[in-house]
Amino acid sequence: MERHTYDVVVIGAGGAGLRAAIAAHESGARTAIVCKSLLGKAHTVMAEGGIAAAMGNRWPEDNWEVHFRDTMRGGKMLNNWRMAQLHAQEAPERVQELEDWGALFDRTDDGLISQRDFGGHKYARLAHVGDRTGLEMIRTLQQRAVALGIEVFMECTVTDIFKDASDGQSKVAGAFAYWRESGRFIVFDAPSVILATGGIGKSFKVTSNSWEYTGDGHALAMRAGASLINMEFVQFHPTGMVWPPSVKGLLVTESVRGDGGILKNSEGKRFMFDYIPEFFKAETADTVEEADAWYDDKKNNRRPPELLPRDEVARAINSEIKAGRGTPHGGIYLDIASRRTPEFIRKRLPSMYHQFKELADVDITAEPMEIGPTCHYVMGGVEVDADTQQSAVTGLYAVGECSGGMHGSNRLGGNSLGDLLVFGKRAGEAATAYADSLGGTRPQVDEADVKAAQASALAPFEVEGGENPYTIQSDLQQSMNDLVGIIRTRTELEESLAEIEAFKVRASTMVVEGHRQYNPGWHLALDLRNMLIVSECIAKAAMAREESRGGHTRDDFPGPDAEWGTKNLVVNLNAEGTGVDLHEKPLPEMPDELKGYFA
Ligand code: FAD
Repeated sequence: MERHTYDVVVIGAGGAGLRAAIAAHESGARTAIVCKSLLGKAHTVMAEGGIAAAMGNRWPEDNWEVHFRDTMRGGKMLNNWRMAQLHAQEAPERVQELEDWGALFDRTDDGLISQRDFGGHKYARLAHVGDRTGLEMIRTLQQRAVALGIEVFMECTVTDIFKDASDGQSKVAGAFAYWRESGRFIVFDAPSVILATGGIGKSFKVTSNSWEYTGDGHALAMRAGASLINMEFVQFHPTGMVWPPSVKGLLVTESVRGDGGILKNSEGKRFMFDYIPEFFKAETADTVEEADAWYDDKKNNRRPPELLPRDEVARAINSEIKAGRGTPHGGIYLDIASRRTPEFIRKRLPSMYHQFKELADVDITAEPMEIGPTCHYVMGGVEVDADTQQSAVTGLYAVGECSGGMHGSNRLGGNSLGDLLVFGKRAGEAATAYADSLGGTRPQVDEADVKAAQASALAPFEVEGGENPYTIQSDLQQSMNDLVGIIRTRTELEESLAEIEAFKVRASTMVVEGHRQYNPGWHLALDLRNMLIVSECIAKAAMAREESRGGHTRDDFPGPDAEWGTKNLVVNLNAEGTGVDLHEKPLPEMPDELKGYFA
């Protein structure tokens, strides 16, 4: 079996993984990146709108305190305050650093990095490259990682984390993986492992996420003994494509609204004015005149309601569709054609222009788009220490979308890319410092664990007459969409948990045909185990939280509840490893000087 030794192994080559690997390498660690798709293909590449950072290039009034406040309010105060603070304080430096490494951002007239408006951000704050910011970010980080000589194992999937408990304290010892092409196994010996595997969107039928988002890091962490936090909070982005069916769920960037696009129902009504919640009334325009005036004079007008945080807009769209005021394909109209010139639209939103032209034969400079909510992002993830990103397991770190806490109950647009950079750097440095602190006495991988990981990976080949993993995955996706989607009820969540139990039974006897060389059925069978754990975490936490807040809406508990606003829900794998245990945990206490921002 192939075997490699490193100080730090980073699982994932999105923005979080690449930034963590660069930091680890620069801190002196022998570092490897392992990723299950090709290098450069990670989800981050799809990010469109930009990186939120209070650089103050358009608004000198902007600073970390305002960004911190916006982030906490966007997350309905359930965020880990320390993570939100570090993020707001350090994001500008991380963006500047990207530019120093060669990223070419759009510019203001004065030659500074341009910053655009996004929902929930008081000031124009998203550093961007047209609507292809993620591509530029990955290009820059990838070039740097390759130039530094960091080793990359691509098309290589990690299925287990090894630990060593021989000195009575359980610590990370390495990871187990397989090459997707050959099916052969690899063992990594390493005292520090950083999970940077992204999100969980593929548990839902309608999603903006790609095939890789099967919650691997979430599940790996749980199986290693770490806990997850905030799993009930799943972000349904308000604007995904609804037509044609083959692209249903594909993202339509929030920049369309940031650049002037408005939402209309089938009666032609600009309906968002009917959905301004009390919490945001003071800062949201309540007339068309004021909303439109804001685009030219932001100082003297309040923001349009189309730029409320995503959870609010997604719920409003859902209500309009349910009330029978949807479009022919079951969406709502997003109109920028009647508001901006074709030249402006093509310059500011080139990807959107091509996406609609090529995939739906719609010219967005001449006609409105049809859009609807799509599962986009998971706020929940591995519970980590705010400063180091270390999980409850010594030597196991999590960063980026697979970590939890930073975004509370709802993430603001642009805050993910900032999160990857800020906490990627911190995790890489902390993982290296820990590996260094061990000196010559490192945790050892137990050969019995290697054999067990191998047997577990090969188990689907041993079954006869079982079910195909594709059928189970498809049923799970439909079930999560129908029962744990944008609006939830106790009855449906109970039904969902019963269905997940049944899927688990079906998955225990699923069968894959053929052999180990590039076998997508086998790959899915392994991913499906992760999707099932993650789905159970979401459904269980959603059932426990009897209120509506951010990305969790309960029809039977329609408003926020002050008591629930003081606690998080934390989930762990149960002692038998067969299901999920859940407990409540009080929010960390915010220092008084920060509380002052919310007076
Ligand atoms: P990813 O970029 O997804 O990387 C995950 C990596 O983990 C991949 O390399 C994958 O191969 C690897 N991996 C997964 N499982 C395994 C395994 N078992 N073994 C080995 N490797 C594994 N956010 C913003 O802030 N601004 C935006 O404008 C924005 N636009 C977006 C547009 C779209 C269409 C989407 C879908 C998201 C957008 N987001 C945006 C969200 C943001 O892009 C993601 O949250 C972020 O990129 C996640 O980065 P990551 O590094 O955590 O994970």
